[in-house]
Order: sequence, then C-alpha cells, then structure tokens
Amino acid sequence: MKQKYDPIGILFPRRCPVCHELVEERGELACDICRTRLSYVRGNYCQKCGKPLLTEEQEYCADCARRPHQFQRGRAAFAYDEIMRRSIARYKYGGRREYADFYAEEILRGCAKDVLRWQAQTLVPIPLHPSRRRRRGYNQAELLARALSARCGIPVDAGLLKRTRKTRAQKELSDRERAVNLRGAFSLREGAVPCKRLILIDDIYTTGSTMDEAARVLREHGAEKIYFLCISVGKDS
Ligand SMILES: [Zn+2]
Ligand SMILES: [Zn+2]
Repeated sequence: MKQKYDPIGILFPRRCPVCHELVEERGELACDICRTRLSYVRGNYCQKCGKPLLTEEQEYCADCARRPHQFQRGRAAFAYDEIMRRSIARYKYGGRREYADFYAEEILRGCAKDVLRWQAQTLVPIPLHPSRRRRRGYNQAELLARALSARCGIPVDAGLLKRTRKTRAQKELSDRERAVNLRGAFSLREGAVPCKRLILIDDIYTTGSTMDEAARVLREHGAEKIYFLCISVGKDS
C-alpha cells in the first residue's frame, strides 16, 4: 500500500525509528527516550565528508586527508552504529517508509546552516537499479529527498541520475573493489543538463565511492558544486 503524506501521524500510527514500537505521543516522529540513545554527529567532524572525529586538532578524517573527492562537502545526522544499522535496515528492507520524515527532520536540525550556505538548486537521490527498485517498491534515497524537500523547499530531481549497471552490494567489498564495482554504474537522463549546484541524497556514507562516482558523472555533464546529505555516516578508520 502506498502511504500518503501524513506528517503528524493522524491517519497511520507511526513507528519509532529506534525501538520500532508505535510512537505513543501524537505528532511525534520518535519516542522521547529513544532520541537519547542516538549518536548525533556533533562538535568535531570531517570538514569534507562529515565523519565524526576524535580530536579537535583534526580537520579531515584519515580517508579525506589521503585522497581527493569528487564532491565539495557532505553532512550526515548520525554516526553509523548498531541502532542506526537496524533503523536503516527497516527503512530500506522492512517497508518503514515513514522513517524518512524523522531522518529528514534530524538532518535539517543539524545541517540546515550548511544547506543554506551551499545554495543548491536541486536534490538528487542516488538511484537504485530499476530491477532492485521494483523488488523493493521504492527507493529509500528518493523518499528521503522528498521529505527533505518538503521541509527545505529545494526541489527533487529523482530521474536525473540513472543506475545503468547492476552492482554488487558494496558492503562485501574493500575500498578499492568498491570504486571498481561502481565505475560506470551511473548515467544521466538523456539530454539532461544538471544544475550547477546540487545536493546528492543517500542513506549511508561509508567510503564515499558511491558519492564520488555519482559526482564524477554529474561534473562530466557540467555540474560545478556537488554536496551530499545522508542519514548516517561511518566512523573514521
Ligand atoms: Zn522508540
Ligand atoms: Zn572525511
């Protein structure tokens, strides 16, 4: 069943993205107590990819200090831990589409200043391969982009990027394998000219190979400044 836009949970009782039980408080997107269990990215984080950092002296994470990226900057709301792993798994594979509203609110709570500063003209979700999207029924990155758009007013262009090649699940692969796996995975909608400034939207940022490959294709077609927003970001290695 397609869930209608129901921001305060009147028509459909909402489930908490942390404990997955029904949220008792009308109009809330998560239980109060569950919010205290989340690891928000606050204070010190990588100035490139948004990964939480251990010391204040660091400007970049080990990965960003070592190699250049195709994007300008990115931010995420939460550090990727066991709670987020479960939450996002239910969002992606368990049909919990309503979690998109919670994630979007938390992302903007922490990153609204950056979003304003970036002055992007479009939000572009990282696409799924059409066969995967059909099986799942939705693209989690697109739902998140729409929830963000409803709150920040930047329009979504969900068809701009296409996944033209099926790729292996990234989590099984090493850094180097990930980059090779994704090479040529994306293309642009035929005849499309991307905006100069845009924000890529995805659920998780880990090594950045997905963002880099998507950004590379967009830059090849004339995009100039590419940023990203994610629900969750992996720890520095
Ligand atoms: Zn809860
Ligand atoms: Zn980084």
